[in-house]
Amino acid sequence: MTKQPHILLIYTGGTIGMIKDADTGALKAFDFNSLLIKIPELRLLDCTIETISFKKPIDSSNMNPKYWADIATIIADNYSEFDGFVVLHGSDTMSYSASALSFMLENLAKPVVFTGSQLPIGDLRTDAKENLITSIQMASLQKDGVPIIKEVGLYFEYKLYRGNRTTKINAEHFEAFESLNYPHLAESGVHLKVNTEQLWQPELNKALIIRTAMDADIGVLKLFPGISRPICEAILTSKLIKGLILETYGSGNATTEPWFIKLLENAVHNGLHIVNVTQCIGGSVNMGQYETSSQLKSIGIISGRDITTEAAIAKMMYLLGEKIPSKEFQFYFETPLRGEMSEK
Ligand code: ASP
Repeated sequence: MTKQPHILLIYTGGTIGMIKDADTGALKAFDFNSLLIKIPELRLLDCTIETISFKKPIDSSNMNPKYWADIATIIADNYSEFDGFVVLHGSDTMSYSASALSFMLENLAKPVVFTGSQLPIGDLRTDAKENLITSIQMASLQKDGVPIIKEVGLYFEYKLYRGNRTTKINAEHFEAFESLNYPHLAESGVHLKVNTEQLWQPELNKALIIRTAMDADIGVLKLFPGISRPICEAILTSKLIKGLILETYGSGNATTEPWFIKLLENAVHNGLHIVNVTQCIGGSVNMGQYETSSQLKSIGIISGRDITTEAAIAKMMYLLGEKIPSKEFQFYFETPLRGEMSEK
């Protein structure tokens, strides 16, 4: 008889862990130690489950790199004992966390599935049960005793996505996430259908390394028509930031106003790493396609290609934290490290 997959459920907080007090109707944190009692369906799963919870569960709006390091450390400490990990997380910043963890867990060869819900687990119409149960099933999928998913995924409303390709697109619908630049990894219908050819295939003979030195001294500048010169100047000449995500229009276009280009050029010259990411939720930056982006390319702006802003922020923090030398920074940023962007 083959051994049942052993799954670790890591509860960080978010709506999924809330339950309505039957008397008062108020939402309160759910005690994850009694998970199997509250959700007896979990016993029917063909795996064994253990749970670990943040001491003080958080709303994901309070997520930060220190908590990411805590999640990475829990996974690393339990890596050999478990076959897969499910991280229960508020949906608001889940795409940021899934992106960050994808970089922090180098040589990951087991599933780490982020999930959450729009309605609390104790709500009659909750989406939490399906998301939780299927995430555990996704994390349990094995072939010849080896996990099928070997990367950080995000499961929500019948789809498993590559975590660092996702964006939260809806605060109302159960279908809250989208991954417009990469196909989903698996789908839950009558059967679980895995898109095997889309899965990340890491080298299996390498040990897991956790990289927790994320450097958050970065900024995001979203362009808009009429953006003012003094504001751009304040950001681009700031000594406080080491990396900047420049959210541009369409395929990576920006105003060609000479003052703007000059500010960017000086900032790059002074060592600021600037990455061009499109404001569109689908499609790619292609600097040089239009006149309004060719100058950006020539002054040394890094192309984020089809990366999401969430993944660009995580990758920027990761590469800065790893102290990648300036002259190699562009090369590393433009190289897909965990499937977060498409090949050139
Ligand atoms: N505000 C909540 C959070 O992100 C929403 C959710 O859990 O979906 O923690």
